[in-house]
Amino acid sequence: MSDEIKHYCGLFGIFNHPQAARLTYLGLFSLQHRGEESAGIVSSDGRTMLKHIGMGLVEDVFKEKDLAQLVGRHAIGHTRYSTTGSSLLKNAQPLQVDYSRGSIAIGHNGNLINALFLRDELEAHGSIFQTTIDSEVILHLLADPSYAHFEEALVDTLLKIRGAFSLVILRDNELIGVRDPNGFRPLCIGKLGEAMILASETCALDILGAEFIREVEPGEVVIISDSGIRSVKPFPPTTLSHCIFEHVYFARPDSIIFGESVHLVRQRLGRQLAKEHPADADCVIAIPDSGNSAALGYSLESGIPFEIGMTRNHYVGRTFIQPDQHTRDFQVRVKFNPIRATLNGKRVVVVDDSIVRGTTCKARLNNIRAAGAKEIHMRVSCPPIMHPCFYGIDFPTRKELIACNKSMEEIREFLEVDTLGFISVEGLLNSVTGPKPNYCTACYTGTYPLPFGREANKYILERKFAGEARPPGMAVSGGRDMER
Ligand code: SF4
Repeated sequence: MSDEIKHYCGLFGIFNHPQAARLTYLGLFSLQHRGEESAGIVSSDGRTMLKHIGMGLVEDVFKEKDLAQLVGRHAIGHTRYSTTGSSLLKNAQPLQVDYSRGSIAIGHNGNLINALFLRDELEAHGSIFQTTIDSEVILHLLADPSYAHFEEALVDTLLKIRGAFSLVILRDNELIGVRDPNGFRPLCIGKLGEAMILASETCALDILGAEFIREVEPGEVVIISDSGIRSVKPFPPTTLSHCIFEHVYFARPDSIIFGESVHLVRQRLGRQLAKEHPADADCVIAIPDSGNSAALGYSLESGIPFEIGMTRNHYVGRTFIQPDQHTRDFQVRVKFNPIRATLNGKRVVVVDDSIVRGTTCKARLNNIRAAGAKEIHMRVSCPPIMHPCFYGIDFPTRKELIACNKSMEEIREFLEVDTLGFISVEGLLNSVTGPKPNYCTACYTGTYPLPFGREANKYILERKFAGEARPPGMAVSGGRDMER
């Protein structure tokens, strides 16, 4: 990743294990890449729920004493990057409340496109919200006392919310997993002895030595209890819209999502890139780590040797104190340092998974050139990002996206590379094995699978226009107003 696109959320849930909170903690470690701003765990012993949440990385938030207090055989956990609402402790998940039917906790990955509409309705009937995140709307709908049974409330809630949502829900004696009918975000089911597990990615099962059973299907609700696992499918059939950017960048290469290995998809992206944009070069290097698999694919297809051209410093954390910036590229070099022995005097193909603003990419390429590269042939394993995402990924605005503001030749000149090539949308879709219409590619094509309100943005629930009356007739986020 050449510019820091923020990740969104990682989900984990476990039912019926004596070390439920500790295993959740380990699971969250594997899902850290999906959210670095906050982390939380809620555990249940069947009667009482206990919660520990905090800002920061999993290792910062949980100490031994915190885990020791999270007793119970069931737990859910969440790592968060804010896609709706500011990065504040009050917005950290899982959200947990006590209500008329007992206790309930929820972790959400994705974005609801009709959250403002639903929140307005709920507030008009007296609901009081404690956060500015869309996920709280789900809790309020679930808590509606007019339903005779929880499952009725759950189904009705799921039919009201729209957008991208993978959910883990913990009740006193039930763990529930949900995927939206479009299947934007992943969620899988695993098993460890007698315990059942839900996780955003299979890498969280691997760390525990758990068995991968299957993915939660798009539009499926799985209810795990002492009676076993039940499946409910409340949604009418719809087109699938798996986020293809999960395969390009977000998911870990050791995960299986949307039915296939992320590493193998990325390798095919690299092969496709080599076919679409060949280069006359001495070596292929990756921008680590997310460019690794695609660079390997480029090398295998082109026959140009794969080399390690950059090393990554894994110890540069969020607490790193930046000294005065004596050199323009210092901040980049402290994370990724080029290897002169690989690059000096060579014609180099550099493979990265995406270019967003272009500024970080440019700095890295400057460092590669300073390490002696004679020619640089930049290859990118996803098409130019031209449009915002409303389904849970926080891209910069169109003003900041380099592909919105420069032609291909202007980008090449800006990056100061000899040649530049992005994979085509067609090539991207050829690299996954599922049917092409089953993937969302809206950030490249502008063709959005679900409509959204024109004011949709991550701060929408904070009423950025607080104090001003909302303009009459202003569309709200994907609610009924959108359908007028
Ligand atoms: S717009 Fe892009 S990032 Fe968002 S869901 Fe679609 S493919 Fe994924």
